[in-house]
Amino acid sequence: MLSGSEQNPDLTDKDYRRILKERLSSAATAPVEKFRTDGEDFVEADNLKDLVSGMNALAGNELLDDEEIRKQIELRDLQVDHPFSKDPQITFINGARHFLGDKFIRTAKPHKFLDGRKLIAVKLHIISRKTLGGIQTNLNSQVFNQDEELIKGLYAAGEVAGFGGGGVHGYGALEGTFLGGCIFSGLRAARGIDAE
Ligand SMILES: Cc1cc2nc3c(=O)[nH]c(=O)nc-3n(C[C@H](O)[C@H](O)[C@H](O)COP(=O)(O)OP(=O)(O)OC[C@H]3O[C@@H](n4cnc5c(N)ncnc54)[C@H](O)[C@@H]3O)c2cc1C
Repeated sequence: MLSGSEQNPDLTDKDYRRILKERLSSAATAPVEKFRTDGEDFVEADNLKDLVSGMNALAGNELLDDEEIRKQIELRDLQVDHPFSKDPQITFINGARHFLGDKFIRTAKPHKFLDGRKLIAVKLHIISRKTLGGIQTNLNSQVFNQDEELIKGLYAAGEVAGFGGGGVHGYGALEGTFLGGCIFSGLRAARGIDAE
């Protein structure tokens, strides 16, 4: 797994020349490209039939039917041309592309999957990458019980206390902003424990 900073060395190294070169090119950043070329979970093909048979071979079964998948992709592709697309992902990308920064750096122009370009499939391994917590605390990281009374001597900090993303940064958990909240709530807990 690659973290956001590892995926984007041009940005994290503030290498302006590399940013221009990599972001204006149609290829992904070098570390992401390496996943495609060397990753054992990647399947590439020139057509859907070959892609699906590669996916089945990788998974070691015949669960995927290329005609069934073709129907689903064709329905999705119909939405690409539509100015009021009903596909929420396409609508979201089109919206993001009104902002110049997102247009050049974060998004690719939506296109039809079955437009003759090379197709890529990635085998997913589902894991829980992060949580937004569950333990309720006050701003001194002291833990509440279910009756909303403080439990004496019990502190919780970081992701388990909802401070990864969701806590300090509001409802949405924005990528790359977890560590700040985790460290901040750890600091509050340490100060609270010290003051006890
Ligand atoms: C792949 C990945 C990339 C990420 N990239 C970023 C990023 O770029 N920027 C960013 O801000 N955030 C990022 N995050 C999120 C960030 O790393 C986490 O939110 C943060 O590390 C959580 O810190 P924490 O101390 O709350 O929990 P953790 O770091 O999960 O620490 C919990 C610790 O408790 C230990 N533990 C669990 N159970 C027990 C037990 N029973 N007894 C003793 N110890 C136990 C665990 O071993 C672990 O060491 C990323 C997360 C992942 C998984």
